[in-house]
Amino acid sequence: MDNINQVLLVAGTHGNELSGIYLNKLIKERMYAADRSTFSTNSVIANPKAVEQNVRYLDTDLNRQFSNANHDDTAGLAEYTVARQFIDRHASTEQQLIVDLHNTTSNMGATLILLSNDAFYQKMGAYVKQRMPEANILFEDRKPWDEQPYLCTAGKCGVMIEVGAQAHGSLKFDTLKLMKQMLTMVLDYVEKHNLNQVQALEDYDAFFYVEEVNVPLGPDGMRVATVHPAICGRDFEAVKQGEPILATFFGYDIYWEREQDIYPHFINESAYAKANIAMALADKRLVSVN
Ligand SMILES: [Zn+2]
Repeated sequence: MDNINQVLLVAGTHGNELSGIYLNKLIKERMYAADRSTFSTNSVIANPKAVEQNVRYLDTDLNRQFSNANHDDTAGLAEYTVARQFIDRHASTEQQLIVDLHNTTSNMGATLILLSNDAFYQKMGAYVKQRMPEANILFEDRKPWDEQPYLCTAGKCGVMIEVGAQAHGSLKFDTLKLMKQMLTMVLDYVEKHNLNQVQALEDYDAFFYVEEVNVPLGPDGMRVATVHPAICGRDFEAVKQGEPILATFFGYDIYWEREQDIYPHFINESAYAKANIAMALADKRLVSVN
């Protein structure tokens, strides 16, 4: 990876995720230092109208508008236009890293979401994990870069910081603090990368996204199960073969059947409720950086 000359911090991709929106304000008011000696930092609000209304989006999810796939089905929607404008303004900036700031209602602590397993990102994960052991490093690297739908993939280089649990539209001290801590680590890493001063890194455990779990629905389209109470709030904790993941209203549970442990996350994320997604699942694997 070449040197990064510019970091673009993006908040308000989802208009009701306030940690990033307030961190943007703190940066503008010079109450949080986002510049380093080897790059400049620009901080923007991605979807100002959604922020104004304190909603996730106006018409459709902005953070699913950035794959190179056909966008005919969303043309004409507000976020389609916002995405095109974002691409025009920011996507072609060379040697730029986009850091997109998000909140989740799930109990995911500070999670760094990496969309490629290139050495630059693997080492970023190691750097952050070493200095912030409670952080979760989550790779969603199953799609090629161009097919990733996320805003942070608009250019050639990007990551997401996802911090929770925080109800959308609300603002918590601890969650904002976690976001600041993780962002500081990411910016420090970029600085060290540019200076060629990334010191010895340790191998680390990271999570690798596998699939989503949908809540089963009845004939009326309503749910017939919930996330099992045994795993509520226990994001990134292992679920073993034979342990329950969903509880049905009929009195029986739905179990994890495969032999390999699985790690639920985005458990009960409220923004995924509309799509009846109960959680996402990940494997845990060692990332070797040496
Ligand atoms: Zn979000």
